[in-house]
Amino acid sequence: LWQFICDEFKSKLSSISYNTWIKAAKPISFSQKRLVIEVPTALHKDYWKANLSQQVISMIKNSINQTIKVFVKLPNEPDPLKAEPTWVANSPAEQTTAITEKRRPTFMRETKLNDKYTFDTFVIGKGNQMAHAAALVVAEEPGALYNPLFFFGGVGLGKTHLMQAIGHQMLTNNPQAKVKYVTSEAFANDFINSIQTKRQEEFRQEYRSVDLLLVDDIQFFADKEGTQEEFFHTFNTLYDDKKQIVLTSDRLPNEIPKLQKRLVSRFKWGLSVDITPPDLETRIAILRSKADADRLAIPDDTLSYIAGQIDSNIRELEGALARVQAYASLLHSPITTSLAADALKNLKLNGKSSELSIAVIQDKVAKYFHLSISELKGKKRVKNIVIPRQIAMYLARELTDASLPKIGNEFGGKDHTTVIHAHEKISEMLESDSTLQRSIADLKSELKR
Ligand code: ADP
Ligand code: MG
Repeated sequence: LWQFICDEFKSKLSSISYNTWIKAAKPISFSQKRLVIEVPTALHKDYWKANLSQQVISMIKNSINQTIKVFVKLPNEPDPLKAEPTWVANSPAEQTTAITEKRRPTFMRETKLNDKYTFDTFVIGKGNQMAHAAALVVAEEPGALYNPLFFFGGVGLGKTHLMQAIGHQMLTNNPQAKVKYVTSEAFANDFINSIQTKRQEEFRQEYRSVDLLLVDDIQFFADKEGTQEEFFHTFNTLYDDKKQIVLTSDRLPNEIPKLQKRLVSRFKWGLSVDITPPDLETRIAILRSKADADRLAIPDDTLSYIAGQIDSNIRELEGALARVQAYASLLHSPITTSLAADALKNLKLNGKSSELSIAVIQDKVAKYFHLSISELKGKKRVKNIVIPRQIAMYLARELTDASLPKIGNEFGGKDHTTVIHAHEKISEMLESDSTLQRSIADLKSELKR
């Protein structure tokens, strides 16, 4: 029976939908015309109850003229046939909007989406399953169910990828759709430019006429009062027009410092889903899919080995694979586990080396204070650059084992005494300056992620 249901869905649904909703479900029991299906997340359950259960009922009705009941449960819920029969009832078919097969058009209008960030290339695993399902719902029915959709989670876990996949999918479904992807910084820059050039009307026209607005990394709205104000109005207009909004951040809205309360409350209107680091199995699957895409011949045990070495972040995982690949081509040697071990031994050393850590510190500090890296490393002696520069040096001294000359060097070739001075200055200020204490604490916790 299940095979029959799967085959029916396979012919009805796009492969993405099929993989998301049907493959993730499993039949638990079927007796006395009652089918119990288990699905992995609450979102899958909602979607099954609203759409798919009814379709299963119709399939069975049409093929063998039997009326069955479908029960959907989560893994941690008891078997509904054994428990009280009240909590599962099939919702009527009001919302049955079947997702139909759609093809990617050969022509794609210009947007700033990365071609690689599609649903096709996104590997589903435990940590991102719910986020992926929510993304798919929003792509298929923008503005209808989860508005705004908010993804949060650590760096390199696929937030940007998934957000852009929604954009691609929406364009596939409707090539006329206006999809706009921006980082929160780009939004802020556009806004500020529009004021300076007296083109605020154009700015508003541009942002308030889209069908889908994707704003990435909204934690960088912190501190930008005017931009938040403008975004508040953009949000309201789009929301009232039932246009879909998708946001990402490294943390929940209420944990973003200096984000206006009214924005926080709006961001909670829709659905917030977190993305957590991939387990080993998912990491292997991701590596396998990247290796296949690049037509690399890599034995399974080598992929497992690489996946075992990098356990936090998918960007690093990709970096590791690229490194192994480069190493192999350099040595004109096939990729094996021992070659991978050699390649990654170096990577790990690099990873711990002061060079990498200082760059990361500079990056975080620059972002935190809305400066460019070159300003941070430069020689300008204005207060709003000098203090962040000294903070970055302070953190480099505190958090890495880089020598003083090395740190100086990483900051555009400054003398080691400059580093000592910066460290002393910040240490001294920290004794009394609570804003600084807070900034340093924020930055340290960011860097620990
Ligand atoms: P974030 O925005 O959360 O920092 P990104 O979306 O930039 O992370 O992802 C980092 C890299 O990892 C990208 O190259 C992306 O394509 C890849 N990636 C992330 N998640 C997945 C996944 N589930 N399947 C395949 N690739 C992924
Ligand atoms: Mg991102």
